[in-house]
Amino acid sequence: MNTTLIQTTTAFFEKAFGSTPEKLVLSPGRINIIGEHIDYNDGYVLPAAIDKVICFAFEKNNTTKSRIIAIDLNEEFEVDLTKEILLSDVVWTNYILGVIKQLQGNGFLFEGFNCVFSSNIPIGSGLSSSAALECGMIFGIKELFDLTIEKKDIAILGQKAEHWVGINCGIMDQFSSVHGLENKVIKLDCNTLEFEYHNADFQDYSVVLFDSNVKHSLFTSEYNTRRNECEEGLSIIKKHFPEIKSFRDCSEDQLLSIKDEMTTTIFKRIHYVIKEISRVIKACEALDKGNIKLLGQLLFETHEGLSKEYEVSCNELDMLVDTAKEDNSIIGSRMMGGGFGGCTINFIKKGHENDVKNKFSFHYLNTFGINLKFYDIKISNGTQLNTTKN
Ligand code: ADP
Ligand code: MG
Repeated sequence: MNTTLIQTTTAFFEKAFGSTPEKLVLSPGRINIIGEHIDYNDGYVLPAAIDKVICFAFEKNNTTKSRIIAIDLNEEFEVDLTKEILLSDVVWTNYILGVIKQLQGNGFLFEGFNCVFSSNIPIGSGLSSSAALECGMIFGIKELFDLTIEKKDIAILGQKAEHWVGINCGIMDQFSSVHGLENKVIKLDCNTLEFEYHNADFQDYSVVLFDSNVKHSLFTSEYNTRRNECEEGLSIIKKHFPEIKSFRDCSEDQLLSIKDEMTTTIFKRIHYVIKEISRVIKACEALDKGNIKLLGQLLFETHEGLSKEYEVSCNELDMLVDTAKEDNSIIGSRMMGGGFGGCTINFIKKGHENDVKNKFSFHYLNTFGINLKFYDIKISNGTQLNTTKN
């Protein structure tokens, strides 16, 4: 599937710059199996890179300026690398300017380059097209100018670029885009950045995302509110249990013992976080033992928590998961990503995918008047040079 994307990007580059690209980079989006709203709470998450990518074509241009073309938007811009990098009014350019600023600020030396890029990651659906963009740009510049940057640092620089753009994201998206491996999920400790791979053997089940096609405007304000609520909750826990440093150290019983010391809202938020961290550990055990039924059950529990306790779901996502619960072909389902729209992740019995898609499309359109979209997911490698020959 990415062959076409690689060919289109290469052809576009050749037409725009009259030369063959020196480097072709593929940078993937990601899914997260379980561990939602946990990366900024210093717990564990279980993401994986996917087979949907941004393809970049690069060459050095022996000047101090870089020219970058976004094929999908039919837009381009130029940046003078000798001048101070400032935020622009054109959103997509800021991710690239942010990356350049971070690289320069951390002492990495490079000169002008030409770049063309195009993607098959749906934009703004929670598959982290933004992280793929940041990590692919950093990786491409590193390859082009022989810079030594470790994978972990590519992720951190990408995250910092996104913060500069104005999104206070955790590290998970960039980390999984860079560290992805075919058929492996990554159990990432968001506190220490230690990680381990687990086999993504889902046996008789396919991973399919249902894109609700909605994005409610509450997203940004509620995201920031949740971060503050969790900080407040953690400080209350620490007051009563000074030995606790982060949510992962707190048991459910400890939290229950101080329930009266906090508002109902704060209690609900951090109860979700503590349960979700323990679900990630259970999910890894389930995967290792090949217990996909348990994994699916954990996904349903996560959704319940996100909807009722963390309160970041919406009618559309709740309906998709409630319908999935009643469907014998679906073993697990939950909203994935920040919430208030975006996708649900579903484990569907192989061979039943089309029936399920037809049923959900019909039901969703009837209820909300909106078309549901579907993405079939394969777990794939992280940001890398293209190695396939055209
Ligand atoms: P996502 O969940 O996809 O990461 P975000 O809102 O975080 O959603 O990031 C999407 C933004 O990333 C877009 O608005 C755009 O600025 C940039 N972006 C992603 N993919 C592309 C692309 N193919 N071309 C240009 N810009 C892109
Ligand atoms: Mg993003």
